Amino acid sequence: MIGADGIGSPVRQHILGDQQVKAIYSGYLSLGSVLPRSQVVLPPDLQLPAFLYSRHGTILVFALDKDTIQWATTSPVAERDRHDWEDYRMSGQAVAQLQSDWSGCTLEPIASMLRHVTDDNIRLWAPYQVPELARWHTARTCVLGDAAHAVSPSLGQGAAQAFEDVGVMARLLTTLPDTTPPSTIFSQFEGLRRPRVDMIRKMTASAESTRGASSSGLGWFVKDKIIKASFMVMGKGKGSYMSNGTIGGYDATNIDVKV
Ligand SMILES: Cc1cc2nc3c(=O)[nH]c(=O)nc-3n(C[C@H](O)[C@H](O)[C@H](O)COP(=O)(O)OP(=O)(O)OC[C@H]3O[C@@H](n4cnc5c(N)ncnc54)[C@H](O)[C@@H]3O)c2cc1C
Repeated sequence: MIGADGIGSPVRQHILGDQQVKAIYSGYLSLGSVLPRSQVVLPPDLQLPAFLYSRHGTILVFALDKDTIQWATTSPVAERDRHDWEDYRMSGQAVAQLQSDWSGCTLEPIASMLRHVTDDNIRLWAPYQVPELARWHTARTCVLGDAAHAVSPSLGQGAAQAFEDVGVMARLLTTLPDTTPPSTIFSQFEGLRRPRVDMIRKMTASAESTRGASSSGLGWFVKDKIIKASFMVMGKGKGSYMSNGTIGGYDATNIDVKV
């Protein structure tokens, strides 16, 4: 059995037996909304999708279609249970949090997006991650995707890693002889995928650490320069982060299967 049953996976619990694993809240709530493009002041040279870094924090902006803009940011907000998050949204606390975090921000399109966010159109997501597991499989059962390694969405890699898992599992199932025991398939799968997922986990944590607000003007000045320099360096060369080599260059059809 292969369990692709998400962050609260019962299959994972079966594999781990008595060892309880609890998904961990990242501590940063994602807040955002969907707005008509006419309400958003988009600077003419801004290409979407874009991450906008500022002293107040970071905002992701993208076009859902030609008339609609979606944006999202993160705020440090204490964990609540599922129903309390809805209260948090409906009671105006979520909008108040955004207005406080971004108070005084006059940069566009951020200022116009924040002007139009309301209790009715605000959306929020509490991102959770699955800690590193002792194992992903037993002799006859295996987990993949979020069930095995959910990461926070800071690098946009959760579903991407689930797809890669599926690509590798499909390749093993179609390349190895039919008589191969499931335990051999699952063990190769875990061996092939763990190092990749560990690297993505570290890159996600590093991306997350750049997204928060800066506590002082000097802090932001330094961070701004570091971010610009990093993008210039990382953007160069084959296999670089920006040229999509490290992340987007993974080819599940080309992995080395031990037959
Ligand atoms: C705010 C946010 C933004 C994100 N942005 C990105 C992004 O930009 N890029 C990216 O790659 N990823 C992103 N992700 C992560 C992505 O959504 C997940 O990593 C991905 O959905 C994981 O896929 P999955 O199939 O492993 O699990 P899921 O999508 O959780 O699917 C699991 C399925 O199993 C079903 N299930 C559970 N238990 C049972 C059961 N007992 N019986 C039958 N069915 C069951 C569930 O109903 C569900 O349909 C984001 C996540 C969030 C929260």
